[in-house]
Formats: sequence, structure tokens, C-alpha cells
Amino acid sequence: MSAPSTTTYVLRGVLPYGTDAVDVVLADGVIAAIGAPGTVEVPESAREVRAEGHVLLPGLVDLHTHLREPGREDAETVFSGTRAAAAGGFTAVHAMANTTPTQDTAGVVEQVYRLGQEAGWVDVHPVGAVTVGLGGEKLAELGAMADSAARVRVFSDDGKCVHDPVLMRRALEYVKAFDGVVAQHAQEPRLTEGAQMNEGVVSAQIGLTGWPAVAEESIIARDVLLAEHVGSRLHVCHLSTAGSVEIIRWAKGRGIDVTAEVTPHHLVLTDDLARDYDPVFKVNPPLRTAKDVEAVRAGLADGTIDIVATDHAPHPVEDKDCEWSSAAFGMTGLETALSVVQQTMVDTGRMTWADVARVLSENPARIGRITGSQGRPVAVGEPANLTLVDPAATRAIEGRTQVTASDNTPFAGMELPGRVVATFLRGRATVLDGTVVDGTAIDAKSLEGATR
Ligand SMILES: [Zn+2]
Repeated sequence: MSAPSTTTYVLRGVLPYGTDAVDVVLADGVIAAIGAPGTVEVPESAREVRAEGHVLLPGLVDLHTHLREPGREDAETVFSGTRAAAAGGFTAVHAMANTTPTQDTAGVVEQVYRLGQEAGWVDVHPVGAVTVGLGGEKLAELGAMADSAARVRVFSDDGKCVHDPVLMRRALEYVKAFDGVVAQHAQEPRLTEGAQMNEGVVSAQIGLTGWPAVAEESIIARDVLLAEHVGSRLHVCHLSTAGSVEIIRWAKGRGIDVTAEVTPHHLVLTDDLARDYDPVFKVNPPLRTAKDVEAVRAGLADGTIDIVATDHAPHPVEDKDCEWSSAAFGMTGLETALSVVQQTMVDTGRMTWADVARVLSENPARIGRITGSQGRPVAVGEPANLTLVDPAATRAIEGRTQVTASDNTPFAGMELPGRVVATFLRGRATVLDGTVVDGTAIDAKSLEGATR
């Protein structure tokens, strides 16, 4: 656990949720005071952060991060991945279960949980596997993981779909006992055998095996009905098609307890990018069409889609810098998520900063059942888990200059709006002046460099 903060901060002229300017005092790990500029009492020892015009949000919470440890420390570690999360404005992440060994026992989830605590950059909440070894045959020890020190509430075979309807039904029934949720990676395996990219005009033209929208939509349709049948809670990972949005909208209208996420990349990138066969754009689910991008933006704006989750999927260069068909699926996202949401939803007038707080902090905390500590309002007495963003800044994205240990950002060479200038975890600055605050002066990226 991180030591209690000894530094007191005063954030000058910040805009909570993008509204009126205030000064905010952080002391003893909580928000100690909020008031009109110049009116709050500031302890003499306070460190002043000039932040006029910067937007203050509750610390971001990611429901879908791949930290790769244990097993693929050449791609990312809990340390490097959570350091990247802090750089991106996050104060909590849910660490996906497809590690080696799989996070399918109390022992492994506790290991990841402890590594997160030792690193100290963000709160790490391990996701438990639904089935043993993600094998899709036998339920993992969900109860033992829920009861462990890691207090697992989100269960997912992400990377693989729980395609057996009987297993899915049992998992949905099982997690009710501890208010858990099954987060489904919706991909009908038979319909996606050998699939490389979205099935459509582009796949036909460039000759890559297509991945039809119905392979995602059929699983989501089945699962919302299963969730309704057993009266359980379902979460749909990274939905990517217009049809999926329609199914979720229908299910919510019917009162089914389902939530859904979209990734930043599905909010902006399309399958047109596959034309040059650059595997940095190879991802699961695949990039879809402009019509799908518009549908997920509309779904996010109207609340059909509850959250934005990064699906941060780091890969070492040898797994991405090869021909398309043999490259790994996935892209990094922790350090660009907020900028992409600003660009696609805020700067276009479709969402306010309060909406951003809802989809990147409050709702993911609620779905992950961590609202005791995260996704809290920006208010006096609340834990000082906060993100400060300069919305007027722009920055050029380059993989090599990112904090994550991997370079596979699809936004390399692009300019994105917005910059995280500070992140606070219980009042302690993990990012200040736009730079991660290294307590021990360990540069994770340069350490990783030796193995790349
Ligand atoms: Zn997935």
C-alpha cells in the first residue's frame, strides 16, 4: 500500500466536470476544500498547482486492461502497465485474466493484486477467469476468487468467448451469490475461424478472411436472454457493431440487467485502415465500418453503452511487426483513451465533461463494484482520486515515447487533443506537470528496452 500522502496541494482555477473555476485543496488523501478562486483557506505548506482552465475529473477507472503479468513480461508488467495507466489519468484498472498462468485461482488473482499494491500507481482489481485456463470447459473457482484478498467481482474469459450456453448460464447463476458480473467477449468461434478483419467490402477487396458482425451480435443476443432468464448481471466487452448497439438498447428497454463497453479505437478507427496490411490495426473485435463507428458514438452519447474501456493490449514488437495473418490481435490504449473520447465525443458536442466522468469513472466503478473508493464525486470529504486534463493542449502520439512497455499504438503519427497534466491517487500525485512522478526513479520503459 502506498504511504499516506504528506503533501498538501492546492489546485488553482480548475474546472470540475468542465464547469465553473474553483480552487481545490487536497490534504490527507481527501478533497479538503473547494471554493471560488482565492476564497479557500490554504495551508502554508501546500504545493500550488496552477491549473486555470484545466478540467478536473474523478480519477479514471478502466474495466478492461491487459497487464500481461504473470507470463508475458516482455510485453508489459503490472508496474509498467499501471504506470502507463496513471499517465493516462487512471486511478484504477481491472486486470484481465488471460495471463500465464491464467487468473483462475485465488492464488493468481492475489499475486496480481499484490503486485498492483507494490507498484502503487493505481488500484489494481484482478478480473477472474470464468473457466479453468480459459478452456471453456469447466467453471473456475469463482467463489474462491471472490472471497480472496483481491475481492474479485468481474469474471471474464476475455480473448475467448464463453461460447457454451450451459457454462455461460452456470457462470451467470454462480456470480449472483456475491454480486459479481460476467464480462463476455462476444465472438461466436465457428463464425470467426481464421478471421483476420471485419467482413465487408474491404476484406473482400484485399483478400483477408472476414469476421462478420453477426458473430458478435448472435452471442450478445443469446447472452442478454440468458441474463434475463437467470436474473443475473451481464457485461458486454468491447462491442463494435451497429447491430450490437441495437441489441443492447432493446435489452435495456426490456429491463435486462446488462451493461456494455466500447473501446476508444472503435470510436474512431475503421476497417479501411487494413488496406496497407499494417498489423498495428489488427485487433479483436476488428475495426468495423464508418456506419458502425457512428452507431457506437450515438450509443455512448445516449447511454445505451455505459462505459469506455481501453482493452489496452500491449504486444512486443516481434508479435506485431510481421505479416498481418501471423500478427497478434490488439493495441495499446491507456495513454490515449481520454484524448480519443475528447476528440470524438466532447469536441464534437455530443458529450459534456460530466458525461466523460460518467463513462470513464463512475459507471466502470459501479460495474466493477468498487464505488467505495473509486468513481466518487468531486466533492469535499471524498477520496482525492482525481485527474486533471488540459483540454486545449494537443500532442503528437508516438509509441516509443509512451510509458507502456509496448509500442503498438494505432495512433502513432497522429495528433490528439487533450493532455493529462496531473493524476492523484488518494491525494498522492502519480502524475504532475504532465510527467509521471517516479518515487524510486525506476524507468520501466528503459528497463523493458533491453528485452525488445
Ligand atoms: Zn476481448
